[in-house]
Amino acid sequence: MIAKIIVDVAANQTDRQFDYLIPPRFQDSVVPGIRVIVPFGPRKVQGFVMGVSETSGYNIKKLKEIEDLVDVEPPLTRELLSLSEWVRDDTLSFHISVLKVMLPAAMRAKYRKEVMLPEGSSFGNLPAELKPLFQNEAIRDMDELLKKMSPEETKLLLKSVKQGILQLQPVVGTQETRKKLIVVKPALSKEKLKDYLTTLSANAKKQRELIQHFIEHSEEIPVVELIEKSGTSRSTVKSLTEKGVLKQEEAEFLRDPYEGREFHTTEALPLTEEQYQVIRPVHEAVTEGRHETFLLHGVTGSGKTEVYLQSIERVLSMGKEAIVLVPEISLTPQMVTRFKERFGSEVAVLHSALSKGEKYDEWRRIRKKEVKVAVGARSAIFAPFENLGMIIIDEEHETSYKQEEAPRYHAREVAITRGRFYNCPVILGSATPALESYARAKKGVYHLLTMERRVKDVKLPAVKITDMRQELREGNRSMFSNALIDGIKERLDRNEQIVLFLNRRGYSTFIMCRDCGYVAECPHCDISLTYHRTTQSLQCHYCGHTETIPTRCPECEGGSIRFFGSGTQKVEEELRKVLPEIRIIRMDVDTTRKKGSHERLLSDFGAGKGDVLLGTQMIAKGLDFPNITLVGVLAADSMLHLPDFRSSERTFQLLTQVSGRAGRHEKPGEVIIQTYTPEHYSIQNVVLHDYVTFFNREMGVRKQAGYPPYYYLAIIHVSDTDLNNAVKVTEKISKFLQSSFSENTLIYGPVASAIPRIKDRYRYQCMVKYKVEPKLTSVLQEILKTYQGEMSKSELSIFIDTNPYMMF
Ligand code: ADP
Ligand code: ZN
Repeated sequence: MIAKIIVDVAANQTDRQFDYLIPPRFQDSVVPGIRVIVPFGPRKVQGFVMGVSETSGYNIKKLKEIEDLVDVEPPLTRELLSLSEWVRDDTLSFHISVLKVMLPAAMRAKYRKEVMLPEGSSFGNLPAELKPLFQNEAIRDMDELLKKMSPEETKLLLKSVKQGILQLQPVVGTQETRKKLIVVKPALSKEKLKDYLTTLSANAKKQRELIQHFIEHSEEIPVVELIEKSGTSRSTVKSLTEKGVLKQEEAEFLRDPYEGREFHTTEALPLTEEQYQVIRPVHEAVTEGRHETFLLHGVTGSGKTEVYLQSIERVLSMGKEAIVLVPEISLTPQMVTRFKERFGSEVAVLHSALSKGEKYDEWRRIRKKEVKVAVGARSAIFAPFENLGMIIIDEEHETSYKQEEAPRYHAREVAITRGRFYNCPVILGSATPALESYARAKKGVYHLLTMERRVKDVKLPAVKITDMRQELREGNRSMFSNALIDGIKERLDRNEQIVLFLNRRGYSTFIMCRDCGYVAECPHCDISLTYHRTTQSLQCHYCGHTETIPTRCPECEGGSIRFFGSGTQKVEEELRKVLPEIRIIRMDVDTTRKKGSHERLLSDFGAGKGDVLLGTQMIAKGLDFPNITLVGVLAADSMLHLPDFRSSERTFQLLTQVSGRAGRHEKPGEVIIQTYTPEHYSIQNVVLHDYVTFFNREMGVRKQAGYPPYYYLAIIHVSDTDLNNAVKVTEKISKFLQSSFSENTLIYGPVASAIPRIKDRYRYQCMVKYKVEPKLTSVLQEILKTYQGEMSKSELSIFIDTNPYMMF
């Protein structure tokens, strides 16, 4: 029998299935989805079995054999295998990269070398200097030896390898670690235990207690737990084991990241009228086993999560499974708790704060069908369920659902593809849907569901704008407007809490006039110019337009043109200057580096240990604290001028999210947005809580400029350490695209990327805008093929992003 295998070598030349012979001993075990070890050239690599067949298109005599099996059960299901092909084509990735991204990191292969004595030889042949290194072991790990050896010893070792005294052998391992514990269980039946009890003397108190425990509970128990629970000692357990009353053995335990945490179960809440209206069609689709994509557009606090929970209840009642995706950043303890409280041990959680081992174990709970709900960030979309009844993507507009390294997949598209396969509904939820999604819903491609009111008719917060240009004119040079400081003081008096949000994205990349709010924009592209430090110029990274940095504002002729830059630490300092007594909890990359610190800071804030929660993007979502009545946004426009056609959309989304943190319960909330561009529609519509008006306005801009959702985009990124070659290749590609695509498809570039050099590599790009382009995939694949030779020999690198979210 022949196995069709994708090998773990990510390169153009190896991006196809290879045929290997299945040796008789593996005949029954090699099935699609299983991982194996195969010889590949001089090496050994891991491979994924895609299929098994009787025949091969190659000379069978020349085929190599599968050397070993990695798995007993296939980690990838048939459905995931075929999904991997779809993702490969959709994202123009290597097949192996897709297969690997579907599995937890712990399952990636680990390649190492072992040094060993050749068969039949003895330590006597070894040079004396090397003997101590081997410590009488015939096989040693090369990397470990290298760490210990002096340069002389290394030389000697390599020489011995050459002479055949030692052998080097490549080994493929995994990083899978399993947690093993010693467990104790009774070796006798209950009756026999009782009999034994009668033979014990009265003062053998500890032994009696222990046996009593096993008369009551016959199941196995980790020895540590047993000692703690029954108050006995290790020696008592040991002596009873020696007497043959108890048994000790090693057992595997799945690590539980939420071990020791108690979750009180909560019942489903009676639905509000709006929730009831939106959940009805969802339940129908679940019951009928019908695929449909719903876009749940509900304002912040409208109770979307409750809709998810009760939709999942219906799914579980039909014996099916559900995946819930939430952005990493909003995978807060609060969010996890809500799912754990409703579904208890049916839930597996997958997010980056877990250790590799914990993630591996949570993943295996899914694969072993021990859980029915997976809650996780982007990659949880590949959760290996086999009877999916629903996929939910919360905050569906979040760009983190797009992976920004190969394979560049978007979880939304993967979700819909899986939903089709399983005939199950997909719910995309957001208060601020992506323009693409809302446009599809309006066209009827998705089923639009709307919730306009907050639960219990809690009012949406009153949003105020403060014009920082005006503040400056009035002599306020600080980073806080007078209104914000007054608002903070008021909250302090009333013992209420404040969230201060600093938008860090986009700092220093644009310049702005502090007097009038002027921002330098490209005359051809309606996009702000990027400040290039190295060349001291402003450039448009879409069309390449370049200009010098003005010293005076071209608009108001003032001299206050500035780059932007300020961090949370600075804000903390400044705020303390104004209000020395204030208790600030700062949450940013610096204060959340340690495991668990994120959770601790939030629970401190929830417990009222701080007046202000100050932070960046990571506090924008998912927070639900009843005492927050004021949200202040410090630099609302910093993102507005990123060289990205989605910058207005992102600004609107982020401000709406942040505003949504205020006044979610009884106490009314207020939001103060500090901005230099109060008239901008993405800020105005946050004040009005008006997504639809924002949508219509932004759609007009996209239509005019020819961006999604009116056009699809693809970007070809070229980089090389040789600047000339980067330009030359990008030019050639651009010409090739011009000649290959239909007339209506537009090609832009070559243009230098906004960050024109990273790690000494020069970066160029060209952009394709198209509506219908049947040849897209084949032409783009052609480019990769054309340059594969050059890429493997030189520093040239080309990658293609078929649905870009990162524009630079
Ligand atoms: P969203 O996800 O839309 O921002 P949430 O699901 O967080 O909104 O709901 C906001 C608040 O309202 C939460 O505290 C939640 O417990 C509560 N809530 C949701 N649905 C109901 C309901 N039907 N009855 C009572 N309270 C509800
Ligand atoms: Zn331009």
